[in-house]
Amino acid sequence: MSAKDGEYRLLGDLNLNTKIIEKVKANLRGEALLPSDSGYDKARTIWNAMINHKPGMIIRCAGVSDVVAAVNFARTHNILISVKGGGHNVSGNAVCEGGLMIDLSPMKSVYVDPATRRARVEGGATWKDYDRETQVFGLASTGGAVSRTGVAGLTLGGGWGWLAGKYGLACDNLVSVDIVTSDGKVVTANANQNSDLFWGLRGGGGNFGIATSFEFAIHPIKEILAGTLFFTLDAAKEVLIFYDKFTRSCPDELASLIVFVNVEGQMLIGVTVCYCGEIKIGEELLLPLKEFGSPVINTLQKTSYVDFQQSVDHVFAEGYQNYWKSSFMKGLDIPEIDMILEFVSKIPTPESVVLIEQVGNGVRRVEVNEMAFNHRDARYSLLICGMSPNQGDKNEISAWTKTFWSSMEPFTTDAVYMNYLGEFGDEGEDRVISSYGVNKFEKLVTLKNKYDSSNMFRLNQNIRPTNS
Ligand SMILES: Cc1cc2nc3c(=O)[nH]c(=O)nc-3n(C[C@H](O)[C@H](O)[C@H](O)COP(=O)(O)OP(=O)(O)OC[C@H]3O[C@@H](n4cnc5c(N)ncnc54)[C@H](O)[C@@H]3O)c2cc1C
Repeated sequence: MSAKDGEYRLLGDLNLNTKIIEKVKANLRGEALLPSDSGYDKARTIWNAMINHKPGMIIRCAGVSDVVAAVNFARTHNILISVKGGGHNVSGNAVCEGGLMIDLSPMKSVYVDPATRRARVEGGATWKDYDRETQVFGLASTGGAVSRTGVAGLTLGGGWGWLAGKYGLACDNLVSVDIVTSDGKVVTANANQNSDLFWGLRGGGGNFGIATSFEFAIHPIKEILAGTLFFTLDAAKEVLIFYDKFTRSCPDELASLIVFVNVEGQMLIGVTVCYCGEIKIGEELLLPLKEFGSPVINTLQKTSYVDFQQSVDHVFAEGYQNYWKSSFMKGLDIPEIDMILEFVSKIPTPESVVLIEQVGNGVRRVEVNEMAFNHRDARYSLLICGMSPNQGDKNEISAWTKTFWSSMEPFTTDAVYMNYLGEFGDEGEDRVISSYGVNKFEKLVTLKNKYDSSNMFRLNQNIRPTNS
């Protein structure tokens, strides 16, 4: 979408004069940054270095009143906006070109009530912030596997993590959300208030407003049994056959994934597991895995949940070029294993990674129509991550990812996890519809008509209102 649509304006179109800028600034507790301000470049830089958008202004919100002020300013002048939580989405939708970027990342507070087992977290916090505070009380809820990922974007899109087998997705643990809607109102959505919106917010992404805080149910989690057993690639086929059988009989407490990753110069296949139940039972359960084949590295150990949550951050380092594609898989049989191994053998850079994530029992337990998130019956999600620290590798990593993904089409379903979708232009509206299924998508359009009929919140995996 572009400004030519005539549906919104860029800040450059406004002839922003000093008076307007001073008025915006005076109305904030946080700051408004223009391209000439120090701090502007830092604020517009997000995790995926492939994205180099330059907003006309960045409002770094200090609280709900700043979010309201930013939304009102944008609505009054019909300005294109983008919303940043953790800034980790691969599509780069958090940063707009020429419009107003509403940056929630200064809003990171986390309040934990151990008595009611509830945590309230602001819309700009990362999972690192959240885990750190909740673990003070030995409590946790499902969050992303890379600690710098934002609570907001991940939860609004679903949110798979190491506790998903037992406690479901991040959105399954959501009790209540406060959002600022396109008319600048602060609305609470939960099971009793605005329950239609609450349905849509659990999977529907940033389409309905700006979430300023989330309330989660939290659970006792302390020491876990977790780590990766790495094998050489010549054993990969056997590892995958073993893994598929092993995960079929897993209890809720076990979450797992397969990773193809370069470790110290060698491409390896890893089986990463996290057991969040009683350690002794976990040790017995994981014995067949420990005794399987000849792992070249074994990091499986008792560890703290917080430490494990940060253990793969280095693999997904900031500032890399990233081109990702994903789909849910039909199964993990020999033909698809062979195809995966063929493309792993052609991996374009040492930083690129391929993941096969086990969706987990807890995800399937939630009734599928309870919220917008769909495809709970999938067993595995395939995520192909073309990555490189060098800008010059951009075309090569994109080409490998696209060819790999399309070659996997016979073995994947139409469905995709919305949070893994890349740039809208590359994926298209059909992929967004596929991520919800047609029936849920229609319900989401109805909700969009009700809460954001002007499509103010359009820079996301967009659910367009009927009239746009
Ligand atoms: C390295 C890496 C690891 C990941 N690991 C996991 C994982 O383990 N599990 C998983 O499920 N997903 C994972 N993801 C995907 C992740 O869930 C999405 O990228 C998610 O959108 C990131 O959220 P964010 O707040 O950091 O993103 P941002 O880029 O800040 O935002 C993404 C979009 O979310 C919306 N949004 C953000 N904040 C708000 C808000 N406060 N209110 C309303 N809308 C908002 C906006 O539409 C925005 O465009 C991972 C992604 C990366 C890059």
